[in-house]
Order: sequence, then C-alpha cells, then structure tokens
Amino acid sequence: MESLQVNLKHKTYQVHIKRGITKELGKHLRAQCSGEKVAIITDKNVYHIYGKQVLQTLNSEGFETHVIAIEPGEKSKTLATLNDVFGELVRAKISRRDLILTLGGGVVGDLGGFAAATFLRGIPYVQVPTSLLAQVDSSIGGKVAVDLPYGKNLIGSFYHPDAVFIDPDVLETLDPREFNNGMAEVIKYSCIKDRQLFEELMSFSKDELTDNIDRIIFKCLTIKKNVVEEDETDRGSRMMLNFGHTLGHAIEKYFNYSKYAHGEAVAIGMYQVTKNSESMGLTEHGTSLMLKELLSKHSLPHQMPESDAAQIVETIALDKKSKGKSIDIVLLSSIGECFIKNICKDEVAKYFL
Ligand code: ADP
Ligand code: ZN
Repeated sequence: MESLQVNLKHKTYQVHIKRGITKELGKHLRAQCSGEKVAIITDKNVYHIYGKQVLQTLNSEGFETHVIAIEPGEKSKTLATLNDVFGELVRAKISRRDLILTLGGGVVGDLGGFAAATFLRGIPYVQVPTSLLAQVDSSIGGKVAVDLPYGKNLIGSFYHPDAVFIDPDVLETLDPREFNNGMAEVIKYSCIKDRQLFEELMSFSKDELTDNIDRIIFKCLTIKKNVVEEDETDRGSRMMLNFGHTLGHAIEKYFNYSKYAHGEAVAIGMYQVTKNSESMGLTEHGTSLMLKELLSKHSLPHQMPESDAAQIVETIALDKKSKGKSIDIVLLSSIGECFIKNICKDEVAKYFL
C-alpha cells in the first residue's frame, strides 16, 4: 500500500492507494473511527457494481450502514439532491460521532463532501473516489460544492476528509470515455510538473498504462498534495493546477456542459494555449506537437471547436479567477515546467483562440 500524508494547517490526513482496498475498507475505518454508523453516499451506477462488497466489509467490522444512492451524473449535483441527502441523513439519525463515506466519482465526492461539511455543522467523512478523475484530482484538496442553475460549483466550501481510500482496480469498470477524461488531468500534472511522467505516458502501451496506473495516481496526488499544502484556499500557487482550465471551463459552459466532458474541454484548453504561447516564443518549440500526440493517444480532442469567439472571450474575462483588468493564466515553458503570466483582458483572444 502506498500512502501519502496531506499536512494542512489545522488537519492532517492520509491518502491510501492500494489495489483491492474497497474490499477491506471496514478494517481501515475501524482503525480510525469509533462511531457505529456509516452513511454511504454513492450513485446508482457505482452502488450497483461495488455496493455489495462495501456493505460486506463495513458490516463485518460491526458498522451499521445506511445507503444514500443518487442518480448518476452532473445533473444530480444540485441543492435539490442535497436536500434529499439531508433528509436521508436525518432519517438514519446520523450524528457527529458517525461517519459519511462517499463512494463514487467527482459528483458524489463534491456533493457528499459538501453534505458532510454542512450537516450538523460538519461531520467526519472519508472519500472513496472511483473514477480516475476523482482519484487523481478532486478527491484531495478539500473543495466540495454543488452547482446552481447559474453556474458550476457556486455553493461550496473547503472541507477536508479524514482519509481517502483509492482502489485502482475499480477503474476496470469505468467507461473508456470516463477513463480518458481522467487521463486529461493526469496529462495536465505531467505537463506542469513531471516531464518524466509525460515521457512514460508517451511510451506506454495500453497494458503498461493499466499495470502502472497505481504509480501514476500516486505521482499525480503527490504533485497535488504539495500544491494544496502550499495554498490551501486557492489564492496563489494552486493556480498552476488550472493549466488548460481557463479555456476549458469556457468551452464546457459554451456547450452547456453537454458536448464536452470536463477533461475533454481541458485537453483543448491545454493544447490551444500552448500552441499560442509557443508561437509567441514563450514555450519551447515542439511542445504543443508533443502534447497533441499524447492527447490523441487517449482519444482526447485538441482542436478548438466551431464557436462564437466573442462569447468565449467574454466568459474567460468574467472567470472567477480574474482580477480587474487582467487575468492570471498558466503557461508551459516546456513539458514539465509551468509559469503564471498576468495578461490584459484584451489579450485573451491572442492566448486562447
Ligand atoms: P467525474 O468523476 O468524472 O467527475 P461522475 O462522478 O459523474 O464524474 O462519474 C462519471 C460516471 O462514471 C458516472 O456515471 C459514474 O456513475 C461512473 N462511475 C464512477 N466510477 C465508476 C466505476 N469505478 N465503474 C463504473 N462506473 C463508474
Ligand atoms: Zn480539472
């Protein structure tokens, strides 16, 4: 088992990565939780595949379990679903001595984590992320949220779990498009911080990727951990995790969050900004070509889709990370090294389109 310790100002917690850990969660929770009840927040897809084994391991350690299974997909990340979840928590008489366990992808992690942050002013929770995207990215960092009709993640908090349990074996049942969606974030980490990882990803066959995925998850989380420890509340250096996201978010929004999955939009964002920074001489020659090849290898898009440029530029200029007349953007100097550049809002098109 590989473990990582996340050291925050007011809290420390462990991230465990181990094949098959889903089947032994009970034992691990028993070691750190004295409560009797566990509320499992999951989605119906994931519950159908992994529910039985999770209940079995928890019950065998004497935990009383309550399952709250929401409809799968981003459309469930709403206040309405949250309201239902609170109702179930009340019905199960969950107290602050009990535990919430989120079992699922980013949607379940974000919504379940926000439920844990707010129910009874906060109760302990552990994350068991099951999608690659959640395993490498959203499960650590403490960002929990739900969407509003006006935009994504508008209601939320920073609330860190007490532990994260990552089972790379559960990725076997993930839809290939969802797997690649997570690979976009893996590629992002390699671009901003780990050239060796980028080169490995370039050379791996499909089987080699599967065989090494636990090590890859560990590498990505190590990068994320270091950045999060340095900037817990996302005001400074955590910005570098936003590589590809400024344009990516604008693309997702432009197409009403339906045409492109998050990772796909980020893939286009990473390529587009790198192609432009390279032609301005800010990025080593050849970088965007390498990036395009790696994205294509994972069936990820890179080309900017047909869209209304003015609308995309406006969305970027209104991004919550923008300040006054300028915005901070993340560029690569070469594969494995990034820097932050402050650009004027009237330069947005030059960098992104
Ligand atoms: P993401 O993790 O990409 O942010 P979701 O939480 O919506 O987004 O998860 C993506 C989809 O993958 C959902 O339909 C979810 O039910 C499904 N899913 C998550 N983990 C697994 C898994 N291990 N096996 C099969 N399907 C999964
Ligand atoms: Zn992302």
